Amino acid sequence: MAEQPASPPQHFIRQIVAADRAAGRHGGQVVTRFPPEPNGYLHLGHAKSICLNFGIAAENGGRCHLRFDDTNPAREDPEYVQSIQDDVRWLGFAWDTLRHASDYFEVFYLGAEKLIRMGLAYVDDLSAEQVREYRGTLTSPGRESPFRNRGIGENLDLFRRMRAGEFADGSRTLRAKIDMAAGNINLRDPAIYRIRKLTHQNTGDAWPIYPMYDYAHCVSDAVEGITHSLCTLEFEDHRPLYDWFLQQLDLPGDPTLTAPLRARGLWLPPNTPQQIEFARGNISYTVMSKRKLLTLVQERLVDGWDDPRMPTLSGLRRRGYTPEAIRTFWERIGISKQNSVIDLGVLEGCVREDLDARAPRRMAVLDPLQLVITNLPPDHGETPVLANHPKDAAFGTRQVPFSARLWIEREDFMERPLPGFHRLAPGGEVRLRGVGIVRCDEVLKDGAGSVTGLRGTLDPDSRPGRPGAERKVKGTIHWVSAAHAVAAEVRLYDRLFDVPDPDDESDGKTYRDHLNPLSCRVVRGFLEPMLAAAAAEERFQFERLGYFVADRHQHAPGKPVFNRIVTLRDTWTHRA
Ligand code: ATP
Ligand code: MG
Repeated sequence: MAEQPASPPQHFIRQIVAADRAAGRHGGQVVTRFPPEPNGYLHLGHAKSICLNFGIAAENGGRCHLRFDDTNPAREDPEYVQSIQDDVRWLGFAWDTLRHASDYFEVFYLGAEKLIRMGLAYVDDLSAEQVREYRGTLTSPGRESPFRNRGIGENLDLFRRMRAGEFADGSRTLRAKIDMAAGNINLRDPAIYRIRKLTHQNTGDAWPIYPMYDYAHCVSDAVEGITHSLCTLEFEDHRPLYDWFLQQLDLPGDPTLTAPLRARGLWLPPNTPQQIEFARGNISYTVMSKRKLLTLVQERLVDGWDDPRMPTLSGLRRRGYTPEAIRTFWERIGISKQNSVIDLGVLEGCVREDLDARAPRRMAVLDPLQLVITNLPPDHGETPVLANHPKDAAFGTRQVPFSARLWIEREDFMERPLPGFHRLAPGGEVRLRGVGIVRCDEVLKDGAGSVTGLRGTLDPDSRPGRPGAERKVKGTIHWVSAAHAVAAEVRLYDRLFDVPDPDDESDGKTYRDHLNPLSCRVVRGFLEPMLAAAAAEERFQFERLGYFVADRHQHAPGKPVFNRIVTLRDTWTHRA
């Protein structure tokens, strides 16, 4: 049967966009944007927005911009600007245009003067505290500032002097003149500009005033010709303000506002976009606020932004997650207006599924116990041929050196086997992957009674190609030849938090109190020799152990370092 072309499942944003195109709205165009603030590294939640914005554009033959929302220089850093670009590319997306909100500082300024001239904005001398006091509450209307009815000339003069740097930080603001009694508090004369004498990473000291998010964001969208401005639900109450600013400014109809962009070669056909809100992605056993992630980094509770336990995209990359698994995950979760928390197990399932299909199999022993085969000469050497993938012959085969002295996994031996244990036990038999059936004849112990090694015999009739090769034993275990093994550092990562909702502070504890003490266990293991030549970021299944990746930064051919991406099975779902 021919495979069905994968048509993406519908969700309300896809439906809105399809209807808009059918109706010829926005000239039939689709232009979206991903607008991160460069104040931290991107995390899994951002990936939801990236997949949505770039996905909607691609599905509709449209464009998607990457825009740095850099209007708050106090918290921004060029390191973040770089990492964000790297992460978006790694996730598999290419932007059509890269912009910074700071590219539009002159447009914001001209727009603000326009609002003043229209009598729709005024300079307020109230302090931040007074503004808060005057704002009112959800149940009581606000009060008008005594400066609200300044004349247009006075407002223009004061605003120009704000821009010239004449006034101290925080001493004045420019506010929109809307409605102090509005039920929606966002419309009670919101601030448009504040005085902040800060050096900006792109514009230096050129601006002593910076625009507020609600103003800068909608204007940025409009001057880039964005058609659908997709954002998270907490902005739903800001939409009336988004629409108000754009209606008053009429960027598509007022070329004087965008003239500075023409001069700098940054002009695109302006549009009046529509804002559409969707639910944030929340995932259990993790925190996803940049503020909290920054704290983990600064307090050295993790090993940097790309610590493999971090929910950042650079952390997941270093952990060995594939971009495909992350994209599949968000596609499966879908887009809705319902807030919910997704079990981290769903994401782990996506990466398992992806790696099951694409990771070649290798053998590695992470908790080694020596097994000597006594009926082979000590210098015995051979190279059995093993399949690189049990379900896909296209992966081919490899030769794995085998000798009389092996490492096996300590937990594959039990001196007093429990019922149902089908691996090695005194006098018992097990199959060594690709080699044959071995029987345990002798258990070696140290003075304290701990098992230090095993001695056994290999049934010659059970070797591949021999008449007894098909003889059934219940267990098959992996092994590595001790003479050929490559020692490696292997990091057994687990969830960073040990409770589903580390953000929940109702018991007086914070996310910092819920760090999983077992989230990183470092062991020295033995690998089959081919693994020493793995390239950084190459992924494998270590048979029976899980999926592993050669560490992006620390793995080197002479000094292998592997990270466990995920175990083969979900070991969390069934915990109490
Ligand atoms: P944080 O709260 O982690 O600091 P933010 O929303 O302040 O995130 P921005 O850099 O402003 O981070 O976000 C860029 C874009 O990513 C925004 O459009 C934002 O809505 C979106 N985004 C951030 N977190 C999530 C999330 N958990 N789910 C979906 N989209 C998100
Ligand atoms: Mg933000």
